Amino acid sequence: MQKTYLKSHKLDHVCYDIRGPIMDEANRMCRAGEDVLKLNIGNPAYFNFKTPESLVEKLRENLPDTEGYSDSHGLLSAREAIAEYCRKKDIPNVGVGDIYTGNGVSELITMSMQGLLDNGDEVLVPAPDYPLWTASVTLAGGKAVHYICDEKSHWYPDLKDMASKVTDRTKGIVVINPNNPTGVLYPKEILEGIVKIAREHDLILFADEIYDRLVMDGKKHTALASLAPDLLTVSLNGLSKSHLMAGYRCGWMCLAGNKERKKGYIEGLNLLSAMRLCSNVPAQSLIAPALAMPEETEKMLVPGGRVYEQRDCVCRLLSEIPGITFERPDAAFYIFPKMDTKRFGITDDERFALDLLKREKILITHGAGFHWIHPDHFRIVYLSEVPQLTEALTRLKNFFADYRQD
Ligand code: PLP
Repeated sequence: MQKTYLKSHKLDHVCYDIRGPIMDEANRMCRAGEDVLKLNIGNPAYFNFKTPESLVEKLRENLPDTEGYSDSHGLLSAREAIAEYCRKKDIPNVGVGDIYTGNGVSELITMSMQGLLDNGDEVLVPAPDYPLWTASVTLAGGKAVHYICDEKSHWYPDLKDMASKVTDRTKGIVVINPNNPTGVLYPKEILEGIVKIAREHDLILFADEIYDRLVMDGKKHTALASLAPDLLTVSLNGLSKSHLMAGYRCGWMCLAGNKERKKGYIEGLNLLSAMRLCSNVPAQSLIAPALAMPEETEKMLVPGGRVYEQRDCVCRLLSEIPGITFERPDAAFYIFPKMDTKRFGITDDERFALDLLKREKILITHGAGFHWIHPDHFRIVYLSEVPQLTEALTRLKNFFADYRQD
């Protein structure tokens, strides 16, 4: 008897458009020899950023001793370095037993949701979001309830909206700071407001802080957990961006603050962590040396530095495009511009992204890919060097000069 194999229903509402159909089309065009300018993916290596040579050397040196599995939580040397990093950032009450290393933060985002949610449980997730969060909540059987980040307030979370969305089923609040896709850094007052809501409803905080070391203009990142010693905060971080090591798959998750009455959840995390045995051990062996050295990105984030100059370039050229507005980012390497949908007749942002790709050979990610409800935004990753960015933004300007979707 022949069987038909369909994808699992668990995936029915799971989406991850950053690597979705438009990227497939761009890859097809590239294979056909077309020159597509990729402004769509936060992978520094693609844009000629190199992992520090000292870490590559360390990896070579460590390989013979990292052939076996490690403890499921990770190598002790790595966890000691992470615990020290937490102390420096005032992330409270994190011992080596509260740390889990992962194959990137990605694996741990999924794990943190799988261990927590029963069908129908709710998690507050930002809109726009880094879409893995919504996808992971959904895959775990939960419901992602989006709170609005308000462009008019520099994309800060709208605390009123957040509070109004808490229900009896809400289990946690996800905070991505600095944010992908908006590139903004939240001030302490906003974080305190989020903690207040979590405190009132006894919610777990999930702090995705993978860009905490990529902040510009002398601003300072405050770790969410540092403001909530009385709550459980799951803090996530890693080396993909700060040390230009995305391919090594190296992240971690720390349980900070008050773990009382959350023991069941922690048991679940321990079980899931044990089931995947451990994360990549050679990569783990680089956590301690990486955290002991200055961030490779640090020198790129100051005037004259590569990322800083690229941000200036993208902001300057975007501001010359009629019908486009934006909030200037403070961190990471993303910007989330707004299109005047009336002017361009845009009702479908995925179609806009495809039209842009086909006409100008530029690949961006449309706002819906970040669970943004209006068809009026898109994300640019400004990791390309200034000449390529200039070329891409010139093509973008040409495109908008006569684009009408309707
Ligand atoms: N969280 C955010 C906000 C991200 O932007 C990314 C990657 O772009 C990740 C998590 C996943 O990073 P990784 O799995 O490489 O650690």
